[in-house]
Amino acid sequence: MNIILLGPPGAGKGTQARILVDRDGMVQLSTGDMLREAVAAGTEIGRQAKAVMDAGDLVTDEIVIGIISDRLDRPDVKGGAIFDGFPRTLAQADALQSLLAEKGMALDAVVEMRCDDEELIERVVGRFTCAHCGEGYHATYKMPDKEGVCDKCGSTEFKHRPDDNREAMQNRLLVYYKETSPLIGYYHAKGSLKSVDGTAAIDTVTASIADAIR
Ligand code: ADP
Ligand code: ADP
Ligand code: ZN
Repeated sequence: MNIILLGPPGAGKGTQARILVDRDGMVQLSTGDMLREAVAAGTEIGRQAKAVMDAGDLVTDEIVIGIISDRLDRPDVKGGAIFDGFPRTLAQADALQSLLAEKGMALDAVVEMRCDDEELIERVVGRFTCAHCGEGYHATYKMPDKEGVCDKCGSTEFKHRPDDNREAMQNRLLVYYKETSPLIGYYHAKGSLKSVDGTAAIDTVTASIADAIR
């Protein structure tokens, strides 16, 4: 099964994608993570993307479509792919449709995760991740069981994204409504859209997604 998790920054896409990976053995295709890896590795793409990402604007369609196209050639996607943060524009959605057709893959569902703006800002500003395994945490909603130690891997190092501040987040929300929210209508018209309440507790959202994609 191949699905898209669609929603604004902070909606919980990454959190739910990781749960699906652990439970169902699917792979998470996060263009945000792939771009951050390119920035950390200092590649040409990383150099082009860095300032754009810090400001909360979108990297060009050409770059992200290229990254996803390469990623879909790896054999692990055969077990099911979760698109997290891609597509984000209508051009990316059209490109994804062509890529999937080319590679003999189907799109089974698009799950829209709804959440209100105030909650999104609070989630993003309080977000941090394990520097070692990438597990996501939140200063209020999801602290590690043992303070300062990752639940998943025991690491004691954590990271906070440079774009997870109020100013960049205001712009990211604007960009979401302008460029990405039209995809809700697009996938609705194609008959593949399901919506879940992303404001509920993490476990409740997991259950709603399971229902939506069944
Ligand atoms: P996205 O990938 O959509 O940007 P994340 O999954 O990283 O969002 O979640 C953003 C922040 O909100 C993280 O700190 C995460 O721990 C927290 N979070 C995710 N889902 C929920 C939820 N249902 N309730 C409360 N906090 C959540
Ligand atoms: P979020 O928490 O907002 O869901 P992501 O990790 O998905 O964040 O993305 C971080 C940044 O990476 C975005 O603000 C944007 O600059 C860039 N980015 C990620 N995915 C895409 C995409 N599909 N198209 C364009 N830019 C992207
Ligand atoms: Zn960890």
